[in-house]
Amino acid sequence: MTLSPTKDPIDLPQGATIKRPDLAAPFVSFSSRSRWSKCALSAVLPQLRTPSGPAAEEGTEAHKVAEWALAEKFKIGTPADMPVVVPPQGLDGFTYTEQAINDWQAQVGQHAITYADRAASLFRDCASGTHCMIEVKVGPTTIHGVKVGGVADALLWNDKAKRLVGGDYKYGRSPVGAGSLDEPNPQVAAAMVLWARQAPHLEPDQLGGFVYQPRVRYGDAWQCWGTTDATAAQNWMERESDKLHDELAAVARAASELAAGRLVDPTPGDHCTYCPSARWCPAAAAYGQAALQVEAGTKAVVDWTPEEVMAIWAARAAFKPFEEDLKERVKMLHEVNHPSVQVKRRTGNRIWDKPAAVVEALLIADRADLLQPPGVEKASGALPQAEIDALVTRAPDVLTFVATDGKQPERAAGAFAKYLQEKQ
Ligand code: SF4
Repeated sequence: MTLSPTKDPIDLPQGATIKRPDLAAPFVSFSSRSRWSKCALSAVLPQLRTPSGPAAEEGTEAHKVAEWALAEKFKIGTPADMPVVVPPQGLDGFTYTEQAINDWQAQVGQHAITYADRAASLFRDCASGTHCMIEVKVGPTTIHGVKVGGVADALLWNDKAKRLVGGDYKYGRSPVGAGSLDEPNPQVAAAMVLWARQAPHLEPDQLGGFVYQPRVRYGDAWQCWGTTDATAAQNWMERESDKLHDELAAVARAASELAAGRLVDPTPGDHCTYCPSARWCPAAAAYGQAALQVEAGTKAVVDWTPEEVMAIWAARAAFKPFEEDLKERVKMLHEVNHPSVQVKRRTGNRIWDKPAAVVEALLIADRADLLQPPGVEKASGALPQAEIDALVTRAPDVLTFVATDGKQPERAAGAFAKYLQEKQ
């Protein structure tokens, strides 16, 4: 059963609010373009806004230092000392010892400096005078009745080369990627297209995009693409602009349908993860309901056709928001001592109280063989880079299984519908 877009959930997490888009003039930020470009419905459904957690706060602090590093590198304003930022409380696994805080600060600083150096390196072959715009507000501008805009981490422009480069600094670990000239990162591409639209007299002849994600779980921290071919650059602008127009037209359609009391079809996929509209989304609700029927054993996964298997596989991320919501709801019921929730307690496993003291004790006992090295990124700065390079290899490639026919929500829903019919 889907929650109607006009209804609120019966209870909300502490500090959460609900934002309902203005259907007469919806606004979309390019920071979430990877979601609304694939599922226009997500741009117009209500959104659950929760207070930012420690990981997001850590990203905000890291961005402050990154902004400073860019300003220093491109000599913007008066030179200043690196801002002193501190790790927010509540970071997972963080010990908050003086040493841990110092290491964190050093790492944040090092990452910021690398970010600025890498961004500047994209203009090494240009005459001086590259203009670096930091945390630049782009738009909002209205296309097909939809307002679109956002804040770009970095936009760089060299007037002599007529080179425009868009960049993004990500401090999270889930890989984002810069994409390629043909398939650029949607956030970066939208910022560039909208900025160029705001400054039509500039007409870039060369283009580039980058994403720097120093703590990425896998893949390269620094990723970029670009072209110095004027025709390719102009074609890119046209193509990316058309793409953005098409996506915004779909959002406009979704808004007018919703205003008339109808929902356009949801398009579930990997982009559903963390979708703030999952509570109102029919796809998340239907898949969650069907998953329970599978759990009940009405039928087995082996009964699906290969096409149905791949359609369901392509839509699997729709379950994540559903599960997150469910967990949150159970937690809230427990907090109010609701009788439907029982708590079973298992004594926690024994864990080290002071990891640093354990390392010391093991070294004194001459048992270095029991120590585990930290992640490669954590060792950055602690050992010379050449030494790190000599010690590093690559984990096996990660295989991603993708449905040949792409996402087929109707086929996936149809596969589940079989269960529903049989049960009746
Ligand atoms: S959960 Fe997925 S399918 Fe549903 S609205 Fe969000 S992005 Fe669209």
